[in-house]
Formats: sequence, structure tokens, C-alpha cells
Amino acid sequence: MTVLCNVCGTSIRSPIFTSGAEASLTSLCEIRPGQVEVSFCGHCGHLQTAPMENVEDYYDTQYNIQVESREQDDLYKMIDGKAVYRVDHQMDTLLKKMGLPKDSRVLDYGCGKSATLRRLASARPDLDLHVFDVSDAYVDFWKEFLPEGNWATHSPDPAWRGSFDVVTSFFALEHATRPCEMVGAIHGLLRPSGLAYCLVPNVYRNPADFVVIDHVNHFSEVSLRCLFESAGFEIIDLDPNAHDAALVVIACKTRSVAEPPPAKQVASLREQVDGLCKYWNEITDRVRRFESDHNEVARAAVYGAGFYGLFIVTCLRDPSRIECFVDQNAFYQGSRRYGKPIIAPAELAPDIELLYVGLNPAIAQQAMADTFGTDRHTYFYL
Ligand SMILES: [Zn+2]
Repeated sequence: MTVLCNVCGTSIRSPIFTSGAEASLTSLCEIRPGQVEVSFCGHCGHLQTAPMENVEDYYDTQYNIQVESREQDDLYKMIDGKAVYRVDHQMDTLLKKMGLPKDSRVLDYGCGKSATLRRLASARPDLDLHVFDVSDAYVDFWKEFLPEGNWATHSPDPAWRGSFDVVTSFFALEHATRPCEMVGAIHGLLRPSGLAYCLVPNVYRNPADFVVIDHVNHFSEVSLRCLFESAGFEIIDLDPNAHDAALVVIACKTRSVAEPPPAKQVASLREQVDGLCKYWNEITDRVRRFESDHNEVARAAVYGAGFYGLFIVTCLRDPSRIECFVDQNAFYQGSRRYGKPIIAPAELAPDIELLYVGLNPAIAQQAMADTFGTDRHTYFYL
């Protein structure tokens, strides 16, 4: 079946990857029916996943990210033995990159509970902050740090048109089935020469992004450039290093002329994408081979209670042998996943010999060396 590229509209004849499974994991680690089907656009280097059924309803009523608590957050990474949470790193990066002149008018678009703007509200009380999301689920959070009238749900307030100095979007564009419309809407909300500041996951630094069923877009630097330039932005900064496994884009509302995507870079992306397909095609067998090679080992646990950890459990022939999950995220500890307790590394029983490491493979070995040392367990790495 032919699909159209979400970014440039080119026809894509067939998917390059199908998971073949009856169920898939979302970015919130929920199990949803349906398999993942990924397509690659040979024109702009965009990767996209076929949307889930009833996707609008999912975001309106079911996708409630971390609404259990105001403080709940993802662990960004351990730095010198200290947990740094994602929202703190997002705000630090935003302030470092943008400066934000006094009294700037800022909108967070597709904001969820907008924990980043909540931090910003206390750090920079001069800013005129607004939020928008397609769902009503987060209004109670917004009320705690914004004046009434500074938020909108379902569609942005028409009076906001052309008024913002900065529009931010943290991890929202990857969910948008029509990203051109979303970037066009952000363009319309900005004043002339206003700036869009967007964060999206970088699948080339974190392979999990390739197989989560709710991320319909997996941007490359080439496809992001194409997306923003086509909407009338000039890219000021496109940074793959400021936030691990994410791309940070700063784009200025201007009258720019879009350049055609460079064919050489698109070809190099295609090679990397072939590597991702091979990786995910072989992974279940790799997990199971390790499992059967270590059948005699009595006690086993999974390190990481996020996507990778849960994925490992779904691959195992006998998940009942896993006693617990181990995770540095203090918000996870004490709760359960898959019926197993989540504990802190210090609580792990010394005679648990086998540790399946459910972390981004790019950082997993270093994380284990920093946490336990290299020889405490027999490790499995994804
Ligand atoms: Zn395309």
C-alpha cells in the first residue's frame, strides 16, 4: 500500500520494517494491539510509523503522561552519581540556548502538564507564559502556575495569532500525524522573526524510538530541516548533542526558500535505517539465545523499568524467572511493572547473578560499570 511522507508528501511504496508481533509497546510502556510498520522516505530521509487506530481519541482521553503526580519525571541521566531529571535538563538547555529576553511572551505547544514551563515560571517570573494541548487532562496542573486565560485545549486561542516571541514544543512533534500542520500552526502563532524551539527524539542515538507504536515520526536532521523550511522558517540551530538521544531545533519565522534535501545525506540515513531494521529483526532471538544459554542460573533481574526493560521481559520465554526491576529513577522505585517490584540498585540482592540490562545500548555498558562495576553480574546487553 502506498503512503505519503508526513514531511514532504512523496509517495512511499512499501514499509521497510514490520514488527510481526500482535501487540506493541508505546513510549509510555503500555501494550497496545497492532504491529509496528515503519516507512522510509527516499526524498527527505524521514522515517514514519503507521498511526495507531483511533489516534485522536488516544491523545484526548488516554495519553495522560505522568498525571499521577506533579513531580513525577523521567530520569535524564546519572551525572557524577547524581540523578538528573529530564525536565530540569530541558529548562537548563532552553535558557542556555535561548536566553529569553525580559518579559518574552512564550507558548508551550502540545505541552502535557508542561513541567518545563512550571520550572520556568519560578525561575523567570518576568515571562508571560501560555500553554496549549489537545487534551483537557492537564488543566489542574496549569492552574497552579498560570493565570486563568493563559491556556487553551483542543485548539489554540484565535486571539493568540502572531503574538508570541517564542513557541516551545518538547517531545510532541513525533506524535503528530500531520507535522506540517503543527509546524504551520506554530508559525501562525509567532510574531514576525519569532522563534520556534522544538525537541524531538533522535532514533539514530536511541533505537527504541524505531519501534514505539505511538511515535509516528522519527526525524533526521535532513527531514527536520525540510519540515521547518517548507513551513516558512529558517533553521538557526539544529543540535544533536545538547540533549542525549534528542534533536534540538531553533527556527526563525521568516521568508526562507526551502532547499531540496541533499541526496547523499538521505542515502547515508538509509544505510543507518537498514542497520536499525536488522537490529530489531534479530533482537528477540538474541534475548532468547542468552536466556537458554543461562538456564542453570538461579536468580535473575532486569535493570531499567522503562521501554527497554519491559521489551526484554516480553521477549523472554519464561518471564517468571525475573524477580524484580532495578531502576535509578526514584519515582519508579516502590511501584511494580509486569507484577514485579521496582527497586533501587543498592537494594539488589547480592546473589542475583544474571542481569538483563534494559537501557539504551549506546550507554548501557558504561552505566553498569558506574553502578555495579563490570564483574558483579553476568550481563545481557541489548
Ligand atoms: Zn519525505
